[in-house]
Amino acid sequence: MLGKEQEANFFKYRGVGFRINYLRISVTDRCNLRCIYCMPANGILNKPHSEILSFEQIKRIVKAAAGLGIEKVRITGGEPLVRKDLHLLIEELKNIGSLKELGLTTNGINLSKHASSLKKAGLDRVNISLDSLVPERFERITRGGSLNSVLRAIETCLSIGYSTLKINTVLLKGFNTDEILNFAKMAKARPIDVRFIEYMPTDLNHPSHEDLFFSALEAKRICGDLGRLAPIHSERSSTAKVFRIDGFCGTVGFITPISESFCASCNKLRLTSDGRLRSCLHSSKAIDLKSALETGASEEDLARLVKEAVETKPESHNLLNAPLGRDSEIYSMCQIGG
Ligand code: SAM
Ligand code: SF4
Repeated sequence: MLGKEQEANFFKYRGVGFRINYLRISVTDRCNLRCIYCMPANGILNKPHSEILSFEQIKRIVKAAAGLGIEKVRITGGEPLVRKDLHLLIEELKNIGSLKELGLTTNGINLSKHASSLKKAGLDRVNISLDSLVPERFERITRGGSLNSVLRAIETCLSIGYSTLKINTVLLKGFNTDEILNFAKMAKARPIDVRFIEYMPTDLNHPSHEDLFFSALEAKRICGDLGRLAPIHSERSSTAKVFRIDGFCGTVGFITPISESFCASCNKLRLTSDGRLRSCLHSSKAIDLKSALETGASEEDLARLVKEAVETKPESHNLLNAPLGRDSEIYSMCQIGG
């Protein structure tokens, strides 16, 4: 474990009181969908299994990071549910007592089958990505996915008692922006939090970013047709600006990486499926924790490397000038975890 002094330094990052307390972990670079804005039609070249972190390695990294103040962990991918026995990882991470929240981001295709075992294993929150409520469009955006499977997963999660469910919708001009009100209405009668996310450029984006980009601020204006949007106080580090529409049970939120950058309050670290720790989604800087583990790193060694990642966190992204992929081998969100 780290001494008091190291812990104190960790929390001093970007001024007293600001804490990097969130770790997003990609458990695989594989996916069962091929969303047009995230993957090429024929997929990406996947890493061999030997290059992907084992559950044991992930657990060791999370333990070291938790010792430094990481309190929230989100499992993502690629598609995390294509990784076999994911509930066993959730169980292991739940045993790290200091973690306050364990979440999962999934495309929902295989979720209804696993929702219950994941909850029993200790999963607290589920985010489901969903970009259209029209079956043919959903199929087109995901290149073949079934909307019904995702809708079934939403029902299953609500019925087994996940207290809130988040739906993440990437705004895609010409594909789904006429569905903004229908998405927002999902939050009307049920504890569903809908988040509209701006499309971010990567070197892979086809069609182009300019053709597809739609501002989340405009989506917010459109949601105003449903009633007054009352702001909900969220943590300073929250990437979404969240509102409750009069009479709604859930909330709507707007995530604006492009039109209003939130880098200055970003509290996240990201671990790629091959064990590289990145302190910014859009920076090529990464620390190779898998190699460190394989050459005998102790918990203290890992903690020192995590701290190094925090200290080199960039002040802000340079997304529009240098899209993801321009200067590193990572060129799509499915490789880094979105
Ligand atoms: N497969 C899972 C899923 O789709 O939820 C988890 C991984 S996916 C990379 C995580 C999130 O990143 C999804 O909500 C997806 O819509 C989002 N994403 C992928 N590419 C994006 C882009 N270029 N701009 C904005 N969001 C993106
Ligand atoms: Fe797969 Fe998620 Fe990327 Fe879609 S957004 S291709 S589901 S990793």
